[in-house]
Amino acid sequence: MEIPARGGDLHHEPRENAGVTTVLVVEDERDIRDVLRRYLERAGLNVVTTGTGAEAIQLLTSADLNVVILDLGLPDIDGLEVLREARRLGGLRVLVLTARSQVDDRIVGLEAGADDYVTKPFSPREVVLRVQAIIDRTATAERDREHSFGTGRLRIDDERHEATLDGRLLELTPSEWGILSALTGHPGRVYSRYELVNRVRGYEFSGYERSIDSHVKNLRHKLHPEGSTIIETVTGVGYRFGWSRDD
Ligand code: CA
Repeated sequence: MEIPARGGDLHHEPRENAGVTTVLVVEDERDIRDVLRRYLERAGLNVVTTGTGAEAIQLLTSADLNVVILDLGLPDIDGLEVLREARRLGGLRVLVLTARSQVDDRIVGLEAGADDYVTKPFSPREVVLRVQAIIDRTATAERDREHSFGTGRLRIDDERHEATLDGRLLELTPSEWGILSALTGHPGRVYSRYELVNRVRGYEFSGYERSIDSHVKNLRHKLHPEGSTIIETVTGVGYRFGWSRDD
């Protein structure tokens, strides 16, 4: 099949939210490898290829990869070894390719942690669609972990304990992070100083409620978006987060 030349083709933009996604194709049959490369590149993905399991394992650690397309029937080592190594390293999605006669391999592959599989012979388009589905699922999982407020201005990453405002990473102390994390957990809800101290330090430090005020003051200083109050004081009660959460 003839593939259009890349010049002038506008369909190379990486998919939104996924950044630049790099796919490693591990396949010893050169024709399949080449056709997958062409289709994946046309879909806007970076592509790295290899025909051996040994080189694949090297690439898993040395290249900046997101997705691995893995043929289980490799000439040098069992493809499952590559799969296990990818799992051990973490952060990689794996689409397994198997021959129709290797149904048992397929089951073993899924049990070993493959994200999806495609049976040979396959259409390259099908493989690209599966890869894009994997990328979309990963992006959705990331979105669930990251919450944003004020139409994307403030972003909170609960797993990394990071907050960014207008694209700027905020350098927060553990106490400041604890307060911000609590308040953004329920925008609009008023938290007493007592509750915030508990969230930040645990119950045994409940005598230090007033220290919350200085932490909030420092936090406000670090946030200070123009013309907007992110952390509101509710007189006689405590504090609340003033921005609503984006959906
Ligand atoms: Ca093979």
